[in-house]
Amino acid sequence: MFGKVLIANRGEIALRIQRACRELGIKTVVVHSEADRDAKYVKLADESVCIGPAPSSQSYLNVPAIISAAEVTDAEAIHPGYGFLSENADFAERVEKSGFVFIGPRPETIRLMGDKVSAKDAMKAAGVPCVPGSDGALPDDPKEILRIAKTIGYPVIIKAAGGGGGRGMRVVHTEAALINAVTMTRTEAGSAFGNPTVYMEKYLENPRHVEIQVLSDSHGNAVYLGERDCSMQRRHQKIIEEAPAPGIAARHIARIGERCAEACRRINYRGAGTFEFLFENGEFYFIEMNTRVQVEHPVTELITGIDIVQEQIRVAAGDKLRFRQRDLNFRGHAIECRINAEDPYTFVPSPGRISFYHPPGGPGIRVDSHIYQGYTVPSHYDSMVAKVIAYGDTREQAIRRMRIALSEMSIEGIKTNIALHQELMQDARFVEGGTSIHYLEQKLAARGEVKKNA
Ligand code: ADP
Repeated sequence: MFGKVLIANRGEIALRIQRACRELGIKTVVVHSEADRDAKYVKLADESVCIGPAPSSQSYLNVPAIISAAEVTDAEAIHPGYGFLSENADFAERVEKSGFVFIGPRPETIRLMGDKVSAKDAMKAAGVPCVPGSDGALPDDPKEILRIAKTIGYPVIIKAAGGGGGRGMRVVHTEAALINAVTMTRTEAGSAFGNPTVYMEKYLENPRHVEIQVLSDSHGNAVYLGERDCSMQRRHQKIIEEAPAPGIAARHIARIGERCAEACRRINYRGAGTFEFLFENGEFYFIEMNTRVQVEHPVTELITGIDIVQEQIRVAAGDKLRFRQRDLNFRGHAIECRINAEDPYTFVPSPGRISFYHPPGGPGIRVDSHIYQGYTVPSHYDSMVAKVIAYGDTREQAIRRMRIALSEMSIEGIKTNIALHQELMQDARFVEGGTSIHYLEQKLAARGEVKKNA
């Protein structure tokens, strides 16, 4: 096992990784920007290194500064967390070439999965069902593009091969709008992602977002840790996640989960990963793979009893997975609410000093957060300040516990979306389960209409 790990991230995930390391008896180095200098988790680390000013381009994305921090502290491995450099194949390569272990898949795998066209090709070859669409990148010939769309059937969606974060996509409803949409998406993709390649998929009108968590070692073993439903989204950003996905039969999950595990074995996947699917009319359609730990990993930890971050570290150190698929049980139900520093109605970020903080607790409640009373939420980064996760024997119990937790939780001095989560935990359609990815936006739009007419 490693003696010392460098954590190349910030906020709640930096603290989460630190906890995993400490439990494994590993010393930690946390790198931080000037804006995060006084954070409690920075002080809790065995060592800390300031790698630059507040803007992430000069700190959390500053590759040479991170590598030097690993060198001067004698760290053996680097955990990238999520976001920032976590899915950057060039960074993973630099880490390994500099003699450190990258806690994640091999750089080639990150590259393969980072290009959505090559990722889909690899998944198709492994027997993972994909959204019907163009076979690879779209050609230049407009006639050919029109023919492909006709075969798929409208509406279609044009997507950038290098896209991410819900950007670089355009839905097309009619033949007349197609060529223009392809040209515009290409131009945008070229400037935003440095890669003008686009592809086409059937646009699914009312899907759910259901994803499969996998773990794979470098000895050819892979397992799936069940699924998560992350359909409650605003602007393609997840805000509530749960495991298992309501109303999907366990044998259906087992079938798709087995396919994902098999795909991992085929591509020699190493570490934790997530296969994202759209789920519509009882069918799964692969859209992309995330080659890192996800924000929503705790719901899976609670229903499996597996510490995903510790397993990532063990696998990176060369260990074999300690369990096989038949050793795994999925028990109970877990729901996560992402608490963001933002206005619950306008969604405008609300950084600033937390003047009072009272976290919830009690049976089945887990809070992953780096904040405390007196902490200042910087304006430079993502607005998520805490994750509240509720576990119960049943979904009903998890919802009841979440309602209590949200009512106990208090964060003063900044605005948060706790009120929105409270509303959603009472929402009849959420309580019923199985809403589509458009549900939250539709609900918010309807609320806007009521306000306008009032
Ligand atoms: P990103 O990497 O930018 O997150 P994804 O491929 O994961 O891109 O797609 C993001 C979101 O866009 C999905 O969660 C879904 O809401 C929507 N989307 C993507 N592809 C389709 C599709 N074929 N049909 C309907 N919606 C889609």
